[in-house]
Amino acid sequence: MIVTRFAPSPTGRLHLGHAFSAVLGHSRARESGGKFLLRIEDLDQGRSRPEFVEGVFEDSRWLGIEWAEPVLVQSERTQAYAEALDHLREKGQVYACFCTRADIAQSLTAPHGDSATSYPGTCRALRDDPERRATTPHSWRLDSAKALELAGLPSWTEVDGRCFDAEPSQIGDAILARKDAPAAYHLACVVDDFESGVTMVVRGADLRPSTPIQRLLQRLLELPEPIYLHHPLITHEDGRRLAKRDLAPTLAAMREAGVDGRELAADLLAGKLPLGFAFADE
Ligand code: GLU
Repeated sequence: MIVTRFAPSPTGRLHLGHAFSAVLGHSRARESGGKFLLRIEDLDQGRSRPEFVEGVFEDSRWLGIEWAEPVLVQSERTQAYAEALDHLREKGQVYACFCTRADIAQSLTAPHGDSATSYPGTCRALRDDPERRATTPHSWRLDSAKALELAGLPSWTEVDGRCFDAEPSQIGDAILARKDAPAAYHLACVVDDFESGVTMVVRGADLRPSTPIQRLLQRLLELPEPIYLHHPLITHEDGRRLAKRDLAPTLAAMREAGVDGRELAADLLAGKLPLGFAFADE
């Protein structure tokens, strides 16, 4: 059975790009008699807002999307992430990192468009120091060299059958947890995809750089391998990304302007975009 999910971060209202991801995942599940799930990725508690969580449900309903219960809410899943991290720690696959908050602040949300591979490994060679850990804010990083040695270079398969081997350069010492947050994006994502039995990960092509590291984590945690559908991104016609700072129209604004959500969903699936938008070249 095909199980897909739409996993937005409730840090703003959804826009057309989110709608495309959601309707694509929904239709892939439905046409095969499978299951479509919603997941709320609210690990970044500083930026997540209850009204945006409500917005996810409201916008999804407007698009004609029906989801299966339960809806996983990441801020409620602390225990599951802690267990996964313990497992990796026992295997010697992670190390404590004391680098500054600014370095690690971005790790809670999905890194759209850039890979998280640039950490120079400053704390990798430190001997584990529980006393320092008890008193100093720190994060936990994947020891990618050790992980690759144990699990080998991962690969992934797209729904169209193409198979990709990860490059070692695509896998860095990603942050997996922080002192103030039980898990960062990559770890939470694979633990939750497993918990929900997700078999097909449908998400934008800007998240493709996250796939090698997530596949590696799945191998280390001995989790089953989903297939991937990284769909083209929708941009403004002039190529600008859809982002809050670019004043992308929200689905809520489209609804208020009288757009029919179900028609919009059908158009998106047929590859038809509203005026002013385009699919980005890969
Ligand atoms: N929460 C991520 C986002 O807002 C999506 C993560 C995923 O689909 O793996 O884009």
